[in-house]
Amino acid sequence: MLGSIPVTSAVAPVLDEANPWLNAQRQFDNAAEILKLTPGLRAVLRQVRRELVVRFPVKLDDGGLRMFEGYRVQHNLTRGPAKGGLRFHPETNIDEVKALAMWMTWKCALVNIPFGGAKGGVVVDPATLSHRELERLTRRFASEISVLVGPDSDIPAPDVNTSAEIMAWIMDTISMEHGYSIPAVVTGKPLEIGGSEGRPSATGRGVTIVALEACKRLHLDPAECTVAVQGFGNVGSVSAELMHDAGFRICAVSDVFGGIYSPVGLDMRALQDHRKATGSIKDFPGTHYVSNSELLQLPVDVLVPAALENQITVRNAGHIHAKLIIEGANGPTTPDADAILERRGITLVPDILANAGGVTVSYFEWVQDLQSFFWEEGEINRRLERILQRAFHQMCDEADLHGVSLRLGAYLVAVKRVADATAVRGIYP
Ligand code: GLU
Repeated sequence: MLGSIPVTSAVAPVLDEANPWLNAQRQFDNAAEILKLTPGLRAVLRQVRRELVVRFPVKLDDGGLRMFEGYRVQHNLTRGPAKGGLRFHPETNIDEVKALAMWMTWKCALVNIPFGGAKGGVVVDPATLSHRELERLTRRFASEISVLVGPDSDIPAPDVNTSAEIMAWIMDTISMEHGYSIPAVVTGKPLEIGGSEGRPSATGRGVTIVALEACKRLHLDPAECTVAVQGFGNVGSVSAELMHDAGFRICAVSDVFGGIYSPVGLDMRALQDHRKATGSIKDFPGTHYVSNSELLQLPVDVLVPAALENQITVRNAGHIHAKLIIEGANGPTTPDADAILERRGITLVPDILANAGGVTVSYFEWVQDLQSFFWEEGEINRRLERILQRAFHQMCDEADLHGVSLRLGAYLVAVKRVADATAVRGIYP
């Protein structure tokens, strides 16, 4: 039906390798081409449905006032409420948030949970704010975007530089505005107010589950694999720890200030103790310093980029030694770099599967909140593993069928699910 509607919409030229939105659209276009989506479906799916830009004042502790800019973007709501995190970062912008929202749609569709995709952000370096200023900023931003959010419409969660505590402030703000508690309005909350067991470690657990599946596919023994992890936030640190527990040898990790490397491997428990004691991973005994870009090119078997976008680009894709890349971050590899990695025979498990553990357990949290009935951690982890393993195999089957990369295989599964749902629903009115 959609095929008969004539469509005129400009296709954005790809001029800038670093623009995540253009990259996200390119990735979608590649899948749409193979799926032979009608022009109507393509036009619907390659744009975001809603984008809200808010500008708001926050009272500072010194009595002054500062203006902030924030975003909430909903890419698609066809399969259910929009779902996706909020990031607080000085360099976030509307194009980044649009890309992240689109990636959430495909991520939720790939693991087959009944959500569409959204993302939000505030342009701020939270390290420059006091704890009280951060709370005021969060509450005001939550209020500004409350026209969109709700347990049936759009459910935020943590992302870069946002925590369970920040989710608690959002839950409280929205609840106060309604006059009653609405736990299901946000996920990644503390346990005390309806958070889920297993949610804080879910993304890193998912990275580990898919890394083990990828090793099976490549006939690699995890015990003989060395690993470098870029990023030591919630995703990177948990991934490093759980991959270590699963038998991998973690040789390098990094944070925003740089990384540490030891060819013989890092003792992850001792590293966590060192970080607790000194406040950073720097100067961990038995390691030497590497920059974040050097880390990506270390002679390791597995690379886990778990920081920000655009880390693997045309500039360094030719110098990566790893034979397996697991994208813990969203969008760490540009499409041009993807092509180089593919030519070089490097296997890449794409972000929309590799980091989908977080949103999958967010889904469990939302379901538990709606039912007011809570599950044990063992049950959460077992269900998570089943969902990710199934999605991994669906992705591989599709990639093998068409002779394409795992990213494209994952997109074929995900985009088809959203396209089919759109076609079945039809166009209103
Ligand atoms: N921010 C995470 C992601 O990029 C989690 C989103 C969620 O749980 O809704 O997948």
